[in-house]
This record gives sequence, C-alpha cells and structure tokens, in this order.
Amino acid sequence: LLLAADPARRLGQLKVNLEKSMVNARMIYEILDMPERQSDRADAAPLTITEGDVRFEDVDFAYGDGTKVLHGLTFAAPAHKTTAIVGPSGAGKTTIIALLQRFYDIDAGGIEIDGQDIAGVTLSSLRGQMAFVSQQPYLFEGTIRQNIGYGRPDATDAEIEAAARQANAHDFIMEQAQGYDTPVGENGVTLSGGQRQRISIARAIVRDAPILLLDEATSALDNESEKLVQQALEDVMAGRTTIVIAHRLSTIVSADRIVVMDKGEVVETGTHAELASRKGGLYAKLNMLGAGTDPDAAEPIMETDA
Ligand code: ADP
Ligand code: MG
Repeated sequence: LLLAADPARRLGQLKVNLEKSMVNARMIYEILDMPERQSDRADAAPLTITEGDVRFEDVDFAYGDGTKVLHGLTFAAPAHKTTAIVGPSGAGKTTIIALLQRFYDIDAGGIEIDGQDIAGVTLSSLRGQMAFVSQQPYLFEGTIRQNIGYGRPDATDAEIEAAARQANAHDFIMEQAQGYDTPVGENGVTLSGGQRQRISIARAIVRDAPILLLDEATSALDNESEKLVQQALEDVMAGRTTIVIAHRLSTIVSADRIVVMDKGEVVETGTHAELASRKGGLYAKLNMLGAGTDPDAAEPIMETDA
C-alpha cells in the first residue's frame, strides 16, 4: 500500500519553501541583536522561565497584506518535550515560529510562556531564552569560532569546542586549514549544507536556551551528513521544550506530541500511533502519501499539497 505511491508524483507534490523573509528577519536579529519591527512595551518585564511551557491560545494573525493566515490557533508545547508541527505547505507552520520569537504581533488571542504573555515581556529576554535552527542556517563573516560563540559572548574556547563536538562538527572543523579560526561567510571557506547546520546546532548548544525552535531541512543532505545532523539534533533537543517543524518521519514518530495544521488551524493533535490510526484524518492521509511507517525513511514527507 505505502510503497504503491508513485515517487515521481510524490516528488512533484513536494514544495520546498525557502522562506526568504524569515531568513532575512533572522539575519537582522542575529547580527544586530536588535528587535526587527518590534519594540518593548513601556511596562515590559523580563521573561522568567521556570519550566518552559508554551501555549498558543485562540491566535489570529494576518501578515501586512491582510490575508488571515492563522485563525483561532490553539495548541500547547509542554515543557521539556518535543512537539512536532506538521501539515501541508502554506498551513502556517513557519509563521508560528516567527510569532513565538515575536517578529510580528498577533491580531487576537495570546501566546504564553510559563503563563507570561509574550507581548508583555522584553524582546531580549524572550529571544535570549530561545535558540533557532533554521533550514538555511546563516553564517556571518567571521571565523567558525565566532559563528559558534555568537549568542553568548562570554563563551570560552573550551565551551565552543565542547558544543562543536556535541554537534558533530568538531571533526570537519579540524580538517579546515585554520581549524576553529577558519573564516566562513561570503569571503570564507565554502561549507556544505550539513556542515552549516551543524555549526548552527553548535551555536544553539552554546546558547543553552530552554526553548529550541527547529525548522527541519527539507533539502537533501548526503547520507553521512544527514545522520550526523540528526544525531546532533537529538542531543540538543533532550530536556528542552522543542518545537520542530518536522518533515522527516523519524522526527515525527519520535515526537512526544504532534500538532497537525491545515490552512491556519490545528486540525489534530496526538502521538504518531494515535493519529496514524485515525481513519480519514489529515495526518493519516499525509502519512500514507508520504513515507509509510518506516521511522528511518529519510524523506521529507509532510510538506505536500495533499
Ligand atoms: P508553512 O510554513 O506551513 O508552509 P507559512 O507559515 O510559511 O506556512 O505560510 C502561511 C501563509 O502565510 C502562506 O499562505 C504564506 O504565503 C503566507 N506568508 C508567509 N510569510 C509571509 C509574509 N512574510 N508576508 C505575507 N504572507 C506570508
Ligand atoms: Mg514553512
């Protein structure tokens, strides 16, 4: 049944979304460490994280052009657990990650972390508690060491190297002409997609933020890189509140909770086993279309127009 899906048709349905606007917003935020568009309320207080529970409650949101992309969106991402967001392309998955970092203000409803409305906390405290590993990690002009240490200026060389080891990046870094002092970015060495991701994961480890946001890559990495990235991610996810826009069945299956989105709404939540057996549900449909039940299938499955 599952093998019967025509791979060519399936490929045609995959839409790789480059999310240029997110990358740009993130570049500005990472480089200047300044709020993009947003500013603190006069009475803003620092966010205090005790557990790291995240809640979206009845959230409505439209981008500047007025088209509503989220309608009454409600879901919880419990502390220390991994919540996978899945759904067709355009469902609003990336938007959720942007709203949680407050790149935009919502139109109605609320987003809370440990009971604190994120609209009322300072941006620096909010973003300081989050690490974001995107599909297209941005490396700025500078050395590998600087790129990893960015986000925690007091990180020592030993901490940077420990993070790189945990991110499965140490070995390829040592193969570069100047090791950790090798320049990257536009005028530096060219690194593969998998290597850039591992540097970005090392950056997240150094940051040691309680909330981890991942936009899982849909682009193909070579097998070796793929495995190393996956391993590194599993390590860094452990114990943190992780919200992952998941494309790989292995990530989805191992998530504590899956939130299925369609057209700006949550349509189902549950574990893989619960959702896969819910006949007629969107998840069951996407699951069949995509990759069957092999948890090691390394194909992007969810971002389809099913
Ligand atoms: P997903 O990540 O699930 O594919 P997105 O959150 O990227 O979905 O997009 C949800 C909807 O919002 C889509 O219709 C998309 O075209 C629209 N959208 C995304 N980013 C922007 C933006 N910066 N400005 C206007 N519309 C946007
Ligand atoms: Mg997306």
